Amino acid sequence: MSSQDEPLEVWIDQDLCTGDGICVQYAPEVFELDIDGLAYVRGEGEQLLAEPGATVPVPLTLLQDVVDSAKECPGDCIHVRRSRDLVEVYGPDAD
Ligand code: SF4
Repeated sequence: MSSQDEPLEVWIDQDLCTGDGICVQYAPEVFELDIDGLAYVRGEGEQLLAEPGATVPVPLTLLQDVVDSAKECPGDCIHVRRSRDLVEVYGPDAD
């Protein structure tokens, strides 16, 4: 099974977020800018999870948008990892 077929999850390192909102443009279902000007992930019911480093599952239908967000993120702070073993597959810590 390739990493693309496995459940993935995503989190943002708010310490490095520039607040430009590129991720929100790519995947507004997954990312949202809070009133502090930083991006956060959205959980169940698309509710913003204000806890720094909060993690949510990546819906398969939104995977490409999330991957594009991680690639374009100017802060290099969007981390996509396998839920099974927490190995990063997209983002600054991916191989
Ligand atoms: S693309 Fe990256 S730096 Fe820009 S708002 Fe989203 S998480 Fe922050």
